[in-house]
Amino acid sequence: MKKLIIASTNAGKIAEIIQIIKELNFEQFEVQSISNYNIPEPDEPYDDFLSNATHKAKYYGKALNQLTLSDDSGLCIEALNGFPGIKTKDFMLEFGGYESAYAELERMLMDHQNKKAYFQTAMALYCPIEDKLLSSEDNEWGIISFPARGTNGFGFDPVFIPNGYDKTMAELGPIIKNKISHRAKSLKNLIQRYQLSL
Ligand code: IMP
Repeated sequence: MKKLIIASTNAGKIAEIIQIIKELNFEQFEVQSISNYNIPEPDEPYDDFLSNATHKAKYYGKALNQLTLSDDSGLCIEALNGFPGIKTKDFMLEFGGYESAYAELERMLMDHQNKKAYFQTAMALYCPIEDKLLSSEDNEWGIISFPARGTNGFGFDPVFIPNGYDKTMAELGPIIKNKISHRAKSLKNLIQRYQLSL
C-alpha cells in the first residue's frame, strides 16, 4: 500500500487529519507521521503559513520520497493585529506552555472589547515522484474567551469559541470541529483536488 506522510509531530493535529481523511474515504494510503522517521526538523523560515507549509511538505517529501502532507497553522487575533499568527507556537513556547500562554493572552486582551479571532491553516500536498504540489488555505472565525474550557481539543481550542456556537472548540469536540474547522475545510479541498488530478 502507498504511504501518505503527515509532516507534523503535533499529536492533536495528526489525529484530526487522520479522522478527516477517513471521513473522505481517502484510505488507499497508509498514513504515517514523520515521528516514525528520524529526520531532523526543518526550520520554518517564512513569515506566511503557505510558504512554511510548502517548505515542510517538500522537505519531508524529498527526504522520504513519499507523498507528503503538511499543515502550518496558527491563531490570529484581530485586536492584536493578527498576533500571534505565524508565531503561535513560538508564543506558547516562550510562555512555557498553553496554560501560561492563555493567561498572557487574557492579559493582552484585557483592555480590548474586540475578541474576534480566527484560526488560519495552510496545507500542502507534495508528490516527489512527479514533483507535483497542491496547496490550500482556509480559516475559521470566532471569539477568544476566558477561562479556558474543555478537554476535547488541543492547542488554543479551549479559549476559542467558533462563530455560531456558545462553547469552546475543546468543549465541542472532534465531531463538530472536523465539520467546521479551518483544517477540515482546507484538507477536504486539497484531497478533492488531488483525487481529480489522478
Ligand atoms: P504548528 O502549525 O504545528 O506550528 O502549530 C502552531 C500553533 O498553533 C501550535 O501552538 C498549535 O497548538 C496551534 N494550533 C494549530 N492548529 C490549531 C487548532 O486547530 N486548534 C488550536 N490550536 C491550534
